[in-house]
Amino acid sequence: MTAFRCSAPGRVNLIGEHTDYTGGFVMPVAVQFATTARISSAADGMYRFASDQFDTIRVMAPEDRSPRKGEWSDYPVGVLREFQELGICPSPFDLTVNGNVPLGAGLSSSASIEVATAMALLAYCGKSMGPGEIARLCQRAENRYVGSPCGIMDQSIAVSALAGKALLLNTRDLSFELLPLDRGNLAESRIVVANSGVKHSIAGGDYGLRRREVEAGQAIVRQRFPQLRDLGDATLEQLEQCRSEMSVESFKRCRHIITENARVARAKAAMLAGDPVQLGTVLTAAHASERDDFECSVEEVDFLVATAAQLDGCYGARLTGGGFGGCTVNLVSAGKAEAFGAALKEAYRQRYQLEAEIYVCEAVDGAIARNLAIMTSAEKGIATC
Ligand code: ADP
Ligand code: MG
Repeated sequence: MTAFRCSAPGRVNLIGEHTDYTGGFVMPVAVQFATTARISSAADGMYRFASDQFDTIRVMAPEDRSPRKGEWSDYPVGVLREFQELGICPSPFDLTVNGNVPLGAGLSSSASIEVATAMALLAYCGKSMGPGEIARLCQRAENRYVGSPCGIMDQSIAVSALAGKALLLNTRDLSFELLPLDRGNLAESRIVVANSGVKHSIAGGDYGLRRREVEAGQAIVRQRFPQLRDLGDATLEQLEQCRSEMSVESFKRCRHIITENARVARAKAAMLAGDPVQLGTVLTAAHASERDDFECSVEEVDFLVATAAQLDGCYGARLTGGGFGGCTVNLVSAGKAEAFGAALKEAYRQRYQLEAEIYVCEAVDGAIARNLAIMTSAEKGIATC
C-alpha cells in the first residue's frame, strides 16, 4: 500500500500585519505546533477525509464537485479541488489529519492543515511544485472553497520556514529572506504568545470589512499615482494628498499599511543587529497602529499588551494575527519568559476572569524542510497516481 505522512507547522506573525493583501511585507515564524496528514490508497474507490480532532468523516466520489459544507473537511477538500483544477486527479485515498495547533487561536491551524494536505497529495501523486506554487494553491483553496479571504502569509510560512529563522516575505512576488533569531542579544530572548481566548468577530466579517476598506483606499491612491504598484509603495505624503477623496476609515487603514511596512524594515534591521530592545520597540509601535489606525484590537488584547509592557524582561508586545481578539506576540528575555507568562496569565485572570493560554515558542521548520525526504522519494516514482 502506498502511504505518506506529511506535516506543516502553525505560525506566529512577528510583525507585518494586514500587509499581505496589498503586496507588502510580513515576518512570520513557524512555531512548534503542527498538523500531520497521513494519506494511503483506498480500495473502495472513494476519497475519505478524517481528523483525530473531529468526529465527522467525509466520503466523496472522485467526480464529486459539491460545494463547501461549512465544516472542518472543507480545508483538505478545498486543497484537493485545487489539484483537480490543475488536472491532477489523485487515485482514491484515505486522508487522516492530526494536529495540535490550537484551532481558531490565530496560530493558523488552517494553513497548517492545508499545507500538510497539499504535501501529502503531492507525495501520493509523485508530483512536485515550487514553494510559492504550493502556498498559492493552498491560499486559493481557503479563498475559493472554504470562503475565507485570507492573504498569502500563513501558507507561505507553513511551506518555507526554517528552524531558528523568521521569514521576511515580500507578498507581492513571494520572494523571501530568512532572518536569524539568534544574533547578538536576540539569542537570549524568546517569542512568547498569549492567547486572549476572545474572538469578537462573526465569521470573519470584521476581517473582510477591513480588507475592503484597505482596497477602497488603495484604489484611490493608485488612481492618483498610477506609477505605484501597491499601497505599500506609497509615502505618507502621497496618502495625505488622497485624504479628501477617501473615507476616514480607509485613510486610517491605509496609513497603518504604509507605516507597518516601514516597521517591518526596522524590525529586520533590529534582527540583523541582534538587538531585542530595538525589535521590541518596533513591536510596541505596531500595536499602537493596529489599535488606533487599523482598529482591529479589542479591550482584552490591549490589556494584555499594556500589562506585558510593565512586566520584567519584556522588550515589546503587540496583537498578532487578523485581530478582533486572538493572540499577542511578546518578545521576552529568555530567563524571564516563564515568570512573564505566569504573571501575564494571573493579571488577565484577575481582570477578566479569563484564562489566557501562554506559549513560549520555538522557531521550527516548515513543510518543505520537514518533508524533503518524502518529497524526494516520491519524485523518484515510489508513489504514483
Ligand atoms: P486559525 O487558522 O487561526 O487556527 P481558522 O478559523 O482560520 O483559525 O481555521 C481553523 C479551522 O481549521 C478549524 O475550525 C478547522 O475547521 C480547521 N482545522 C485546523 N486544524 C484541523 C485539524 N487538525 N483537524 C480538522 N480541522 C482542522
Ligand atoms: Mg486561519
